[in-house]
Amino acid sequence: MLIDIHTHIQQFSDKDLDILIKNSRLKNIDIIVAAGTTLSDSTKALELANKYKEIYAAVGIHPQNIHNESTNNYIAKLEKLIQFEKTIMVSEIGLDIQENSVDIKLQRKFFSEQINLAKLHHLPIAFHVRNANKEAIKIIKSEKINEIKSVAHYFSGDYQYAKELLDNGVFISVAKPFLRDEKLSSTIKKLPLDRLVIETDSYPQYFKKNRTRWTEPKDLYNILEKLSRIFQKGKEEIKEIISDNSKYILSI
Ligand SMILES: [Zn+2]
Repeated sequence: MLIDIHTHIQQFSDKDLDILIKNSRLKNIDIIVAAGTTLSDSTKALELANKYKEIYAAVGIHPQNIHNESTNNYIAKLEKLIQFEKTIMVSEIGLDIQENSVDIKLQRKFFSEQINLAKLHHLPIAFHVRNANKEAIKIIKSEKINEIKSVAHYFSGDYQYAKELLDNGVFISVAKPFLRDEKLSSTIKKLPLDRLVIETDSYPQYFKKNRTRWTEPKDLYNILEKLSRIFQKGKEEIKEIISDNSKYILSI
């Protein structure tokens, strides 16, 4: 079974989505998790999940989007989306420190509240961290995320950070930067295979003129291929291990 544990495919236009679904069916991708980044985007992810059998929804407020739309009573609003059977994760949540980022205190609050929402509903989380590894580890510990299943989405840190995540029960999600970043790939090589999952983080890349160069769930095969090479194991064996890890996270 092949599972893309983190994408934003609900952000594609209907026409582009048709192409994407066709491509992923040709490549036998079994499950695609569509992660919401705002309340309306989470609703869209769920609508898509109700339309396509292989799509499942994740609901959450991305740290960059805390101010993007009304987030009054957002927990209650997310909770409504969680009631649906095809909502299987709380994501994309996390911390993101850049110029003009939302105040870190507010980001911490949203991250903690959404972790607790996941706990309450026994759902796994997938979280994003940019320039905030230390802050993230602090919250991971204080909110005891080892009590639920969790995924560090689009992992790009060093071994020390990975080790801290692993020690707190977090699974590491390998995405496309691993294909070209040799430093990252040597870090991944040191991690236990039974704690890795894979994702494409697919979203519409309109800045790339050539449609065929957009990242899509079918690109999971490139990640599997490289994992097979660096761990010196057959592609089928790697696929099976990763699939078992993803199924464990999603309880399917
Ligand atoms: Zn994402």
